[in-house]
Order: sequence, then C-alpha cells, then structure tokens
Amino acid sequence: MAKGVAKGMRVVLSIAGFDPSGGAGVLADIKTFAALGCYGAAAITSLTSQNTLGVFAAYHQPAEVVRAQIEPLLSDFEIAGVKIGMLPTRETVETVAELIIERSLPNVVLDPVIRSTSGYELIEREAAAQLVERLLPLAALVTPNLAEAEQLTGLSLTNDEGMAKAGERLREMGARAVLVKGGDLKGETEEAIDVLVDERGCRRFSAARVRTRHTHGTGCTLSSAIAARLARGEDLDTAIAGAKEYLVAALRAAPGLGHGAGPPNHLAMSDGR
Ligand code: PLP
Repeated sequence: MAKGVAKGMRVVLSIAGFDPSGGAGVLADIKTFAALGCYGAAAITSLTSQNTLGVFAAYHQPAEVVRAQIEPLLSDFEIAGVKIGMLPTRETVETVAELIIERSLPNVVLDPVIRSTSGYELIEREAAAQLVERLLPLAALVTPNLAEAEQLTGLSLTNDEGMAKAGERLREMGARAVLVKGGDLKGETEEAIDVLVDERGCRRFSAARVRTRHTHGTGCTLSSAIAARLARGEDLDTAIAGAKEYLVAALRAAPGLGHGAGPPNHLAMSDGR
C-alpha cells in the first residue's frame, strides 16, 4: 500500500491526457477516484490546450516520458485499477501495453478516446489501429461511445441492437468485455442506455438522461468511476451500474462553468469509505 494512504484505500492509476479546464482527462479522473474513495495517481500522455468551447492543440508526450512517469509509481504503489484514456501515438500505446503485461496490472478500463465531441482529433491514426491490436485484449473493459464504436467496427449505429452488434464485433477483435455507450443516440428518450457485451452475453444498463449542455468529459468520468469501483472489488455489472449513478449525480450538479460544454461536478456524490 502507498505510504500515507488510509488503510485499505485502493490506488487507481489514470494514464490519459491533461485537460487544463479539468472537465476531462487526468484531472477529471483523479477527482472521480477521490469521490469514490480511491487514491488517484496519474501519468500524462498529452498536454492539451482547451476549454469548454473546444480543443485547440495537443502536445503529445514521448512514449519514454510516459513510461518514466509510470514506472516509479509501479515500483512504489500497489495498483488496484487502471483507467486508460487518450493514447495519442502508436509508441505510447505500445509502451502502455508492455507495462500492463510486464506488471500484470489489474482492472484495466480502456476508454478508446479518438476525437473530442467538438471534433478535434486527439490521437494519431496509427494509434487507433495499435489500440485495437495491442490493448483491446488486455483490458477488463472497453468503453467506446457511439462514434468510437462506429469508427472501430465500421458499423453504423442507430439503436441498442446495433450497439450490441458493435460490442460483439469488438469482442471478435479481441476485447473481453465492451460497454457501448448510447448517450449520443438520437431521439428524445428519457433514458441513457449503455450495452455491455461479455462472455456471459449482452446486458442493458439504463440511467436517467440528464438534459444539460455541460457534458464535457463524461466518457472520462464514467470509465474512471468503473475503474475505481472495480478496484474496490465490485463485479463488472455492479461497477457499471454504480458508475452510471455517479455520472448522473455529477451531471445534475454541473456547476455551469464556461461558455460551452462545461464540466460535471465530480464531487457531487462522494462515497469515500
Ligand atoms: N481532452 C482529453 C484529454 C480527453 O481525454 C477527452 C476525451 O476523452 C477530451 C478532451 C474530450 O472530451 P469531450 O469529448 O467531452 O469534449
């Protein structure tokens, strides 16, 4: 256990991009881990320039800098869960895959970040291919949104049957469990439906649809909440259901910051046992 951490407190590592506005990336991840009673550590894969209106630039860190951030943590802390977000280059994907294998890192939740909602390409094209080949099989769960599931599978998704098909396709491509998130589905439903596909079949997870423009970093937040709950020993279904509840609370309590899509309030629901 990390020195100075409450007894029994689990350490969760985020490997992701840095969003200075704090709605997405490692800042969102750390707040989420803390809200869910875990100790957060983080390695930054890319320094971005952005606010609630959009992403303006991304300064990708060399793979060796990413490795240099992670290795000292692994030799000092016992890591109970890992959230992986923006992996911008092929080399960084490879480095992260090597570290997961070398150190047998548990409870890896992979958020296959490709493009921001505002349309900025956060990762290089070759990184996406490498992500599929190297990281899909290493993750306990992969959490694509509709656009990411479409891009990774080539399918066009308009309903939850299509989402289940995309999950199955991603399993054929090597993933163990896939949560296809339906938050961006067109239509005025009162629910946000996500579809989980794993070796036990297909399950739907429903939560209230929160009508707000403040949705910046919802994917980062959900995947981090799942990683924290898995790190605390919950099974996959319980972790996903609890993480969705957490996200709903965070979206409902959004502080209304910025002139665009503002951040949720990551500390709206605190469960710091
Ligand atoms: N910045 C970083 C570092 C991210 O990881 C992500 C998404 O995962 C974004 C920005 C985009 O967030 P959004 O799609 O909510 O705009």
